Amino acid sequence: MDQPPGAVPDELLQRLQHFHSQYFPLHQQRFQDLVAQGQQPKTLFIGCSDSRLVPYLLTGTGPGELFMVRNVGAFVPPYDGSHGHHGTAAAIEFAVLSLEVSRIIVCGHSHCGAIKALYGEVPMEARNLARWLDLGRGAVLPVQPCTEALRRTEQRAVLLQLERLMDYPMVRSRVEQGRISLHGWHYVIEDGEVHVFDVEHGGFVAASRAQCSGTGPYPPYVEHDGQVLVDC
Ligand SMILES: [Zn+2]
Repeated sequence: MDQPPGAVPDELLQRLQHFHSQYFPLHQQRFQDLVAQGQQPKTLFIGCSDSRLVPYLLTGTGPGELFMVRNVGAFVPPYDGSHGHHGTAAAIEFAVLSLEVSRIIVCGHSHCGAIKALYGEVPMEARNLARWLDLGRGAVLPVQPCTEALRRTEQRAVLLQLERLMDYPMVRSRVEQGRISLHGWHYVIEDGEVHVFDVEHGGFVAASRAQCSGTGPYPPYVEHDGQVLVDC
């Protein structure tokens, strides 16, 4: 549609029109299959809301592959029985109980504003944000927030959320049965690399050197030439 003379182009509208006219026709069948057959994602992705974290790019996935919940800090609220308006908790329950996902990823990242805010102030008016950040306080180190400390805090926060995730009974039982694997990830934006927490080595390993995308260890274990391998 032609713009009236002097009007500012509506960039967002142009992008919607481009999606409909350019992208959708090339992938129409995929979208229609997903409607006819329903979604069957294998992965629940819990990620920070940060605009620089683009899960589809990192994992090479598209429509129907990631069930995603994103929030400030990639935090997991406690399973405390309060049964309130907890969007992230509801998403976890739905993904595990209804979609029956087999993987849960918790993905933090470098230069995370939520983690940085744990060492500073938030606006007085941001009462929900201040309360929400409590979910990361257990990761804070008793040091000045230098670059290295922030990086370590970001990684510790991922582990804290995985621990809290295991307090969800439907998650714990499936992890223990080997039906769900947990994946603790820390994405370093400037390097273009995800670091995966490896529980056996007790640290984050760059994906380019990692043996497994999961945090593990998870059964079933597979004996192979005398070596014990983890099937992930
Ligand atoms: Zn963040």
